[in-house]
Amino acid sequence: MPEYWLSLGSNLGNRKTNLFRALKQLNSLGTVLKRSSVYETKPVGTAARHNFLNMACKLRTQLQPFRLLRKLKQIETEFGRIRTERWGNRIIDLDIIYWNGKELHTNILTIPHHLMENRAFVLIPLAECCADLINHQGKSIKELMGKLSDPNDVRLYKRSENSQT
Ligand code: AMP
Repeated sequence: MPEYWLSLGSNLGNRKTNLFRALKQLNSLGTVLKRSSVYETKPVGTAARHNFLNMACKLRTQLQPFRLLRKLKQIETEFGRIRTERWGNRIIDLDIIYWNGKELHTNILTIPHHLMENRAFVLIPLAECCADLINHQGKSIKELMGKLSDPNDVRLYKRSENSQT
């Protein structure tokens, strides 16, 4: 059955609640096998004003990539996400990072996600779960992290705030 690594992010409303609500929704698409801690991240670029909370999770589901993408977009819409500027504020953002070590290159969907290798908010949560995971170019998450220019923009969210309650 397909397994995916996903990246979750939120910087509007109750950000932590949004992440855990999204996890619950993801569990209805299959089984969330693993999740990272929650991290707080400075926004990339100037479009978003508030800090993000980010998380990574591993999802096992029968859905093939395009069906999964459609479901992720549905979840984002149900959350009330309004698409404005790129890198803008968002209640929830759900991205597919990896898919069973396979690649996909289309206009609609690219796996591995085309920007993930440069993004500390994606790599740092992923590294907590699967630092040795090897990407399609034979590089581990750990190696990719070594090339980040902005690792200090991501910090572990307070432990007391990291439980689901
Ligand atoms: P976003 O602003 O992060 O919601 O992404 C905007 C668009 O990126 C989506 O509507 C997708 O069609 C496209 N996209 C391309 N590759 C991916 C991916 N791996 N995961 C999620 N969205 C993707």
